[in-house]
Amino acid sequence: MSLATSPQAIDPPLWLLAELTYRCPLQCPYCSNPLDFARYREELDTDAWIDVLRQARAMGAVQLGFSGGEPLVRRDLEVLVAEARRLGFYTNLITSGVGLNGARIEALREAGLDHIQISLQAADDELAAAVAGSAKAHAAKLAMARAVKAAGYPMVLNVVLHRHNIDDTDRLIALCDELGADAVELASCQYYGWAKLNRAGLLPSRAQVERAEAVTQRWRERLAERGREMRLLFVVPDYFAQRPKACMGGWGAIFMTVAPDGSVLPCHSARELPMAFPHVRDGSLEEIWYASEAFNRFRGDAWMPEPCGSCSERHQDHGGCRCQAMMLTGDPAATDPVCSKSPRRELIDRALAEAVETANGSAALVPRQAKHSRTFWRG
Ligand code: SF4
Ligand code: SF4
Repeated sequence: MSLATSPQAIDPPLWLLAELTYRCPLQCPYCSNPLDFARYREELDTDAWIDVLRQARAMGAVQLGFSGGEPLVRRDLEVLVAEARRLGFYTNLITSGVGLNGARIEALREAGLDHIQISLQAADDELAAAVAGSAKAHAAKLAMARAVKAAGYPMVLNVVLHRHNIDDTDRLIALCDELGADAVELASCQYYGWAKLNRAGLLPSRAQVERAEAVTQRWRERLAERGREMRLLFVVPDYFAQRPKACMGGWGAIFMTVAPDGSVLPCHSARELPMAFPHVRDGSLEEIWYASEAFNRFRGDAWMPEPCGSCSERHQDHGGCRCQAMMLTGDPAATDPVCSKSPRRELIDRALAEAVETANGSAALVPRQAKHSRTFWRG
């Protein structure tokens, strides 16, 4: 691997996302895992993950997320958490809660896990079952949220908002309040992976988003009146904005993802780009971070075409998201079409108009299942 850029010119990663597995008992149609996740059946083993943790920490990473898929399907999760703790990471488990039980919560606590984030699909059993493809998951999540809280963990509940649950924002927040959440992320669906595939059936209307945001604001005021500390974060879908998000704080700037098979990525969606990404076997994480072609491809601003190249905002949003640019325009270097200055903004406006048209229709949702995933690659 040739040294394309001086190590001194690039800051080390602060965040490591360890995607331990793509296996998951649920089938959310907005899952951010790659469409062809089923092709990556091999997973790094415990020793290889420990090596990844050690290298990332030695480089300076301090925040560590264990995610997936469902990270709880890894029986060595507690071992990895213990090693991460020993190394001095702040550790966060990002889980559906399915597969958690009292014994595992205790084991994770003993291993030193700092923080647990549980996702909820809906406010009620029926919709949650339809979204997750599991009749039992919702009740299990609620039980585990209570158990996590009882174990003394700071708890974040995460709800992906889309057309089918966004009108329930009031009931969702009430449920999170009742469960004792310390923070709630009402995270509008980001249209990558399975969510992009199912966009016509998931994208809410602008009126739905505005109503949900107003409901959230009312809840903030009521919580403040009660003196209840439950932080409410409402993330508007970027399709409704005029500027793109500063994706990952910039390509290869602060965030490194290691995928279940050992591929090293600047973000968890990046493997859908038409690029080769290095594997942990190809060199040290340090070499990959500082010197690989993949991590240097969209660093800085020299790669930017117009209108980004001469735009005064290019250091704020870095031209937006490369994955979104690729998915929507076929060119990973294009200006993110979310930007109103993009010559392709009509791609977003058309999707928003279609969302209004199909709002009362029944755009079928494709569940995130291995059998569907297999149709996305040949071999
Ligand atoms: S979004 Fe749903 S299907 Fe995807 S990993 Fe999370 S729980 Fe599993
Ligand atoms: S033109 Fe590019 S740099 Fe300027 S605001 Fe839009 S996406 Fe950001």
